Amino acid sequence: MEISVCWFRRDLRLEDNTALYNALNSDYAVLPIFIFDKDILEELPRNDARVNFIHQQLTQINKELGKYKGSLKIYNSSVDEAWEELIKEFNVKEVYINEDYEPYAMQRDERVEQFLASKNIQLKSFTDQVVFKPKQILKDDGLPYTVYTPYKNKWLKHFELNKPQVLPTPNLENLYSSNFNFPSLSDIGFKPSTIQVEDFNLKQLGNYEQTRDVPHLNGTSYLGPHLRFGTVSVRSIISQLKPSDHVFLSELIWREFFIQILVHFPRVVNENFKSKYNGIVWRNNEDEFSRWCEGKTGYPIVDAGMRQLNETGYMHNRVRMVTASFLCKHLLIDWRWGEAYFAEKLLDYELASNNGNWQWSSGTGCDAAPYFRVFNPTSQTQRFDPDMKYIKKWVPELNELTYTPMVDHKMARERALRTYKTGLESF
Ligand code: FAD
Repeated sequence: MEISVCWFRRDLRLEDNTALYNALNSDYAVLPIFIFDKDILEELPRNDARVNFIHQQLTQINKELGKYKGSLKIYNSSVDEAWEELIKEFNVKEVYINEDYEPYAMQRDERVEQFLASKNIQLKSFTDQVVFKPKQILKDDGLPYTVYTPYKNKWLKHFELNKPQVLPTPNLENLYSSNFNFPSLSDIGFKPSTIQVEDFNLKQLGNYEQTRDVPHLNGTSYLGPHLRFGTVSVRSIISQLKPSDHVFLSELIWREFFIQILVHFPRVVNENFKSKYNGIVWRNNEDEFSRWCEGKTGYPIVDAGMRQLNETGYMHNRVRMVTASFLCKHLLIDWRWGEAYFAEKLLDYELASNNGNWQWSSGTGCDAAPYFRVFNPTSQTQRFDPDMKYIKKWVPELNELTYTPMVDHKMARERALRTYKTGLESF
C-alpha cells in the first residue's frame, strides 16, 4: 500500500498543524511518526521533564488517533536509522514536515531530504512554528534585521497584509489504519519527573502590560514550553488576541526575531553576536558559578530565581534578566556558561530565545543599548518585588543574619565596566 508519512517533531498537536493537515489532504493514507532521537536523548538526565512532557503529549495524540483506527509509529533510535527502517517496511510516496530552524534540525532535515530523494520520495515542508519564515522579514535592501524595533515594525506591516489563518479541522479519516505498540517512558530509557509543564493561560492578558514584570503574580501566559514543543500553534494564539494585547504580541515577535537571528547568523551559537566584545577576559570562577547555579549568591532576588528554576524548570522573565546580568556582569562569568545551565533546566528551553536573551543580557548581542547596563539586584527588588513576596517563597531563610552578598555591588559594577572597556580596547 502506498502511503505518505507525517513526521511530528516540534509540533505535537493535531489541530492547526500545517504538515499534518496537508498530509491528510494528500492522495495517500497518512502514517504519523515520531522519532525519539537517540543522539539527543543520550545527553539528557534520565528523569528529564521535557522528555516526560513529550511522552505525555504523544500519548494523548496516539489516543486521539486511535478513535480513527490509526496510531503513532514511534522510533527510538538515531534519525538516520529510523528512516532506513521505515523505508524498508513501508511503501512511502511523500513525507510531510513542519520546518524547524535550529542548526541541528536544519542539517538533519537536509540529510533526510537527500536520503528520501535517493529513494524517489519527496519531502514536503511547511511554515508552522512561526508566523513568518525567518527569511520573509528582511530590510528593504534584502539584508536581515539585527535590531528588534525595525524588525517588529516590518513584521507588523506583513501581519496587517497577511493575517495568519487557523486551519480547519483535519480529516483524520485519511489515516493509515494501524495499531502500533506505544512505548512506555521506561521503554525509551526514561523515568517520571517530579517537574510538570503547566497549562498555558491567556486569561490574564487583559492586565499583561501591568503584571508581566511582577514575579510573584501569575501575570504571564506560561506559553513557553507549549510553543517550544508545538502543543499549541502560534497562529491560534495570535488569532485570539485583541488590539489591546499589543505588548503580548510584541513578545511573540521577540521570539521570531531571535529565530531569524539564529538562522541568519548561526555562529551566535558559540560566538558573541558583536565580535568587538571578543576581547573580554571572563573571570570564570567555578566556585562562584556553582553558588549562582545553586541560588547561594547572597542576593535574594538572584537566589530566588535560581531556586525557582532548579525546582520548577521555570523562571520569571524579569528574574531571568536579573540572574543573567548578575552572572555576566557581577561575576564576570562567560554568558555561554549561564546559557548552558538554563538550557539544561528550562522547560521552555529554545536555542534561539535562550542564546538571544543571554547575549542581550551580557551586552554582546542584539541590543541597541551599550554594555554599561548592569542590573542592580537591590533596586530591581525594590521595583518589582517590593514586599518580597516572590523572594520569600523561594528563599525562606532570608531573615537569618548570615544572609550576605557574595560580592559587593558597587565594586562588581565598576569591575565589570572596567573589564568590558579593556576588552573593547584590546580587540
Ligand atoms: P510570556 O510573557 O507570557 O510571553 C509569551 C511568549 O512570548 C513566551 O512564551 C515566548 O515564546 C515569547 N517571549 C516572551 N519574552 C520573550 C523574550 N524575551 N525573548 C523571546 N521570546 C519571548 N524564552 C524561551 O522561550 N526559551 C528560552 O530558552 C528562554 N531563555 C531565556 C533566557 C534569558 C536569560 C532570558 C532573560 C529570557 C529567556 N527567555 C526564553 C524569554 C522569556 O523569559 C520567556 O519566553 C518567558 O519567561 C516564558 O514565560 P511565558 O510563556 O509565561 O512568557
